[in-house]
Amino acid sequence: MTDTLAPTVFPTDRRVVTAIPGPKSQAIHERRLRVVPSGVASALPVYIERAHGAIVIDVDGNQFIDLGSGIGVMTIGHTDDAVVAATSAQLAELTHAMFTITPYEGYVRVAELLAEHTPGDFAKKTVLLNSGAEAVENAVKIARKYTGRTGVAVLEHAYHGRTNLTMAMTFKAMPYKAGFGPFAGSVFHAPGSYPFHDGLSGADAATRTITYLEKYVGAADLACLVVEPIQGEGGFVVPADGFLPALQEWCTANGVVFVADEIQSGMARTGAYFAVEHFGVVPDMVLSAKGIAGGLPIAGVTGRAEIMDAAHPGGLGGTFAGNPVAAAVSVFESIERRGLLADAGRIETVLMPALLSLQSRYPVIGDVRGIGAMLAIELVVAGTKEPNPAAVASLTAFAAQHGVLLLSAGTFGNVIRFLPSLAISDDQLIDAIGVLEAGFASL
Ligand SMILES: *Cc1c(COP(=O)(O)O)cnc(C)c1O
Repeated sequence: MTDTLAPTVFPTDRRVVTAIPGPKSQAIHERRLRVVPSGVASALPVYIERAHGAIVIDVDGNQFIDLGSGIGVMTIGHTDDAVVAATSAQLAELTHAMFTITPYEGYVRVAELLAEHTPGDFAKKTVLLNSGAEAVENAVKIARKYTGRTGVAVLEHAYHGRTNLTMAMTFKAMPYKAGFGPFAGSVFHAPGSYPFHDGLSGADAATRTITYLEKYVGAADLACLVVEPIQGEGGFVVPADGFLPALQEWCTANGVVFVADEIQSGMARTGAYFAVEHFGVVPDMVLSAKGIAGGLPIAGVTGRAEIMDAAHPGGLGGTFAGNPVAAAVSVFESIERRGLLADAGRIETVLMPALLSLQSRYPVIGDVRGIGAMLAIELVVAGTKEPNPAAVASLTAFAAQHGVLLLSAGTFGNVIRFLPSLAISDDQLIDAIGVLEAGFASL
């Protein structure tokens, strides 16, 4: 058999052939330690060579079932055929032509698709950027310019990025902020809704949030409230019913721009294009990144046209922002063509009962939550609500040794989040669940 003539059939099964990490990964890791700063840590020092669908293969030939999708970036699957075709063709045709100098159609097309698929039946405009943090930064810039106010409100347990402004907006000190200050000012963390811990109804949690904003911040100084509809790094925290609509109503009544950070929860992950749709909320601005371009770096701020137009000409942009190759990817069209919104529900139907069944047998699982292909378990000291990050560390290590990539999350590091590609098959999911079961049995 020659490699060049054999058709490439990408494996679809889990297969561990060396210790994890294997010898080739260890050799690369040695080199890395000499030239990459330790501040850039990796959850699992296994070096990846190839990936397709929900399978990633490392340099030692180990095949992993990927339940993390690069933190929800590979929502339509690794090396998706349509993404590879579109970007390859675009690369040869036009690699770069800075949109703020000489524009091109791809950028306009992405803005049209975002206007069409984000909630709200009104005129919308989109600015494209390179990363999620940059989208958050630009949303704040625009909201400040539009309102003439400076204050930025966010919620406890929020994650919005690692730049100076977004570090200030992110909640968790270690590892995201510790020692990196001083941070941007006028950022306020209000209490949110975390049903497992606060036990509050959505209405009561919203009253608590709004009271904080009115008394401590002052609505008249507030430009925007930035909220993840389902918190990502915070641990897939789903707010109680009624919480988000009450916040939105309060924002509208007080001239505060309501920004949904859908960077992790959007792009079909929950079975809706954007997670706010599950809560009946129509934000003034929606932020997209991670899953928007099948792995290519691009991000968007999509908002009401009159808000987005507040920034003066030349006030927004960036060298690579909205790059033609990333803009050539149409994840929305792939989602439509392949019916991927339904796959989020299919994944929930397989995974959720399995997680609930584990919870009934292992009291270390305090909470099971999430929507669609955005599910999580929160691990506690059995019989309490005390965080149990040690159990999370044991389980993610066990899973890695057995060929399953699992991601942790949560302010206390005690959440395991499941955000597989929508291309994962039932067989792959069931196989990965078997590994998880064995992991709990081994605790
Ligand atoms: C990942 C993430 C960001 C930051 O995106 P980057 O592309 O890493 O800058 C912001 N908000 C949320 C909700 C995220 O999950």
